[in-house]
Amino acid sequence: MNERDSEIMLQLLEQQGYLLCADLDSADAVIVNTCSIRGKAEQKAYSFIGSLRRLKKKKPHLIIAVAGCVAQQEGAKMKARMPHVDIIVGPQAIYQLPDFFRQAADATAVIATSQHKDFTIPPFLPDIGHGLPHKRFVTIMQGCNNYCTYCIVPYTRGREVSRRPEDILAEVRHLVDGGVREITLLGQNVNSYGNDHPAGGQTSFPELLRQVAAVPGLVRLRFTTSNPKDLSPALMACFQDLDNLCHHFHLPVQSGSNAVLKKMNRKYTVESYMDKVRGLRRACADISLTTDIIVGFPGETEADFLATMDLLEEVRYDSAFSFKYSSRPPAASCNLAETVSEEEKAQRLALFQKRQNEISLERHQEYVGTTLPVMIEGESKTGQGQWSGRSSHNLIVNFHSPRTYRPGELENVTITEGCLHSLRAELSQGDK
Ligand code: SF4
Repeated sequence: MNERDSEIMLQLLEQQGYLLCADLDSADAVIVNTCSIRGKAEQKAYSFIGSLRRLKKKKPHLIIAVAGCVAQQEGAKMKARMPHVDIIVGPQAIYQLPDFFRQAADATAVIATSQHKDFTIPPFLPDIGHGLPHKRFVTIMQGCNNYCTYCIVPYTRGREVSRRPEDILAEVRHLVDGGVREITLLGQNVNSYGNDHPAGGQTSFPELLRQVAAVPGLVRLRFTTSNPKDLSPALMACFQDLDNLCHHFHLPVQSGSNAVLKKMNRKYTVESYMDKVRGLRRACADISLTTDIIVGFPGETEADFLATMDLLEEVRYDSAFSFKYSSRPPAASCNLAETVSEEEKAQRLALFQKRQNEISLERHQEYVGTTLPVMIEGESKTGQGQWSGRSSHNLIVNFHSPRTYRPGELENVTITEGCLHSLRAELSQGDK
């Protein structure tokens, strides 16, 4: 979502005559788009913003803007700590950035981090010339109403706001007409798309997916991310019915223990999660499932952790993002006493990752001998006819070919080797 917001900010400023430059020293303006999902990302952002003080001393006319979730969260506190920053802009206010730049040029500091009850995401047609030529993100909603106890998103991105379906479809058509072949629909919890509108007043996520999938010329459609509690049978049916919907679902489980899930306020149980996993696999037998896991949540016992390890064996994810728990004020879990030592967290994480890596490798080896269409991403850095693409399952596939491809072209390849993070392949017989 931050990548997409960066593209929007760039496009808005280009319309005002700014040009993207290759190095910091030649810049007249710098925008730091920040993420605060983990403490480390926030520290990195602060350290980079601090380093810009030197540049501002050399070039007093330099405009420094900080956007994203750290800006939203810190607001005036950031200005006090980093007085050389001119603009502090939250995610809802990025569309006003050109106005803020004009104010900052007159030496007026701007702090735009209030969240508005009636905020709507304005229609916006992306510049085809920016970003990858073959695949793009399209934001369908912002914010989240779920308040999982470890998460700061509802505090930084605000309440759920769904975009109008006609604006989303216009953006997708514009991109596809411009040559884009793959679209990823973005939201913090896409499954609850439309729930912020009165009952019956808004298209549901499965309905939206069907409308986007029908845009002529769209080759691949993906979406992220989903809270399992809102995964409906209607969404599962989309995997049966839509040819261009990719066979990949990122379904963050976070823990395999019902006691921990309750403390996390995830509003589903391991049993209901497994029902959904089975439903997805019934709808799409080769669907690739990936997940997010937190180890060492306050109160997580050895038995809770082992339940997560059991879940891993039962689902057999293609891959997982896994993290040690860290508290993120003002998220509610900050009020829970930490019961798992850092050392224990590290041990649990290492055990989890070791087993997940073994499963990922086994899963990837199961593809050997199958023929898959891959969408070309580009030639590998080494050149020499080595190409890289992605399967519908979102797996990286490397192969050799004497042909030259454009990003976004499809090629059929036969998998010869499953590695930990990718697959190796050769051209299928008819294509050699
Ligand atoms: S559903 Fe996702 S974004 Fe929303 S509060 Fe929970 S973890 Fe955060």
